[in-house]
Amino acid sequence: MTPLGEQIAARIDAAGPITVADYMAECLFHPSLGVYAAGNPLGSEGHFTTAPEISQIFGEMIGACLAQAWLDRGAPERFCLVELGPGRGTLMADILRVGARVPGFLNGAEIILIEASPHLRALQRDRLADHRITWHGQATGLPALPAFFVANEFFDALPIHQFQFTKGQWHERLIGLRDGALCFGLSAGPIAAPATGDIRPVEGMIVETCPGAIGHIAAIDQHIGTHGGAALIIDYGDWQSQGDTFQALSQHQRTDPLAAPGTADLTAHVDFEALARAVTRAKYTRLTPQGVFLERLGITQRAQALADRLTGTARAAHISAHRRLTHPDEMGTLFKVMGLYANDTPCPPGLMP
Ligand code: SAH
Repeated sequence: MTPLGEQIAARIDAAGPITVADYMAECLFHPSLGVYAAGNPLGSEGHFTTAPEISQIFGEMIGACLAQAWLDRGAPERFCLVELGPGRGTLMADILRVGARVPGFLNGAEIILIEASPHLRALQRDRLADHRITWHGQATGLPALPAFFVANEFFDALPIHQFQFTKGQWHERLIGLRDGALCFGLSAGPIAAPATGDIRPVEGMIVETCPGAIGHIAAIDQHIGTHGGAALIIDYGDWQSQGDTFQALSQHQRTDPLAAPGTADLTAHVDFEALARAVTRAKYTRLTPQGVFLERLGITQRAQALADRLTGTARAAHISAHRRLTHPDEMGTLFKVMGLYANDTPCPPGLMP
């Protein structure tokens, strides 16, 4: 077992089984042994790669979209530009490069990164060394200004609870020990129905909830409702959470999430309907496939312009990156985009009310 696995096993031995959410939080954010605590979880050498790490054209489209949302708000002189879960800082670097071409945008922006990992904060500081940045732990208590938010593959990293319906009752799915190895089980006593949307329980059904996601979206909703602005939430998932979506990636391969704690990235699909239910003060857009969203923003024209300047393997790599971001067989359909926007401003470009 990994060193973190041994610590988790000792904890279960002493105090009993833990929730999937506790397990996820330990594996991702244990201060010395968690995936985000050390090493480099992202990019080609890490466990998983993300849209901004695949090509700069992704961040350029997001930057153009946010800058247009800012113009649609009347180009407020001062505003917050907020990214949740900025990873290596690549997306924000691409947004700022595009933003520099829009008069007034960079000068007026207070750039705020919401990041829990001290290790990733240090990478972001290096990557964005030319800009004045502040870091926050939450999307609450931000400066009282209009704010434009982006979150790419942030919500999928937030700890989930799982519940299973067996013999007419709900139980929480827990992680315990069998013969010294981590294993899934169910809470002994039945529990109240989990806080999901309308579902008709059937035998064996698994549902997931993500309280952290609700907290973050409520904070964004509150901010946009009070001060104006918009948000782009980009992640894999669908309108409703579908069964057991808890998964682990290690060196770009799917693995058993319990096999080697601290060495694999753990995620779950995002339940966008649950996010939408928490939006009460702002408006939310239709859930849109990433490929459609990027096409509407003009990614193909931008990709062609760049391709014209490239030759050989660089050109081939660029064309395949464009395909990866947009094609329905790659990230184009699996990943979705939902926007939030203030009642008195138009829907962000690329999305529909
Ligand atoms: N958006 C980046 C990175 C995605 S990885 C990209 O697209 O490449 C998830 C990011 O969210 C990491 O930066 C991770 O440290 C951060 N994160 C996860 N849970 C968090 C939390 N509860 N609070 C703040 N940051 C968190």
